[in-house]
Amino acid sequence: MTTSAGASGDPGRPDVPTPVLRLATAANRLTVLTGAGMSAESGVPTFRDAHTGLWSQFDAIALATPQAWQADPELVWAWYLWRVALVRAVTPNQGHRALARWAALPGVEVQVVTQNVDDLHERAGSSVLAHLHGSLLQFRCDRCQAPHEEQIPSPDPTQQRVPPPPCRSCSGQIRPGVVWFGESLPVEPFQAATQACLAADLVLVVGTSGLVQPAAGLPGVAAASGVPVVEINPDSTEISRLADHSWRTTAATGLPALVDAVTAARIG
Ligand code: ZN
Repeated sequence: MTTSAGASGDPGRPDVPTPVLRLATAANRLTVLTGAGMSAESGVPTFRDAHTGLWSQFDAIALATPQAWQADPELVWAWYLWRVALVRAVTPNQGHRALARWAALPGVEVQVVTQNVDDLHERAGSSVLAHLHGSLLQFRCDRCQAPHEEQIPSPDPTQQRVPPPPCRSCSGQIRPGVVWFGESLPVEPFQAATQACLAADLVLVVGTSGLVQPAAGLPGVAAASGVPVVEINPDSTEISRLADHSWRTTAATGLPALVDAVTAARIG
């Protein structure tokens, strides 16, 4: 494993480490695994930061459980409407946009697999293969699992109880489409993510600490089958040990520089 610092003479335009550029330029099938660090530079509040104002008296972990939903769905629904509003108020950053530009290069296929529950990749123009922890912007019935396609209204920020909409197909009610504490990851996105890691000729891991299982195992699956793994993260992580190269930079700084360099190398 090699490590490169992100700094260069121009902090806004870092030098792409040679081994990273070589692997990225050669890759026709790229799988990108993204985590909280990808969205942080857009200003998406972390799970715990989402506990301010009206919600500061509540414990995030206590609200994000099936038990909380069963006990008080109106409280949990109001909290999620508020979190949806926080996400709607921010925009994709240059890192999200760079991944969409990369996917538009001729002969390149980019699969995005994210642990994030926001929709910033989609709004930047990427199609997301898998939201491993679900999505704040996708809702479903808590009984028959039917997706809820209708627009969710913006919340009244002073309301701490909002009745969730009823399901149109059964007597259930509409719940957030995220994975709660104590719930298993949905099987299909995880299988698709695993396949995408095995089929890739480069796995790029961006802004994830590698601590949350089982998603944290995906870079290891790739490395064990001989697929090169490159990490983009300002900090050393559990993934650094198995990555072929770790580039110490952030998503919004490193990815635009990398995609510009790949574009220049592939297209000239
Ligand atoms: Zn239903």
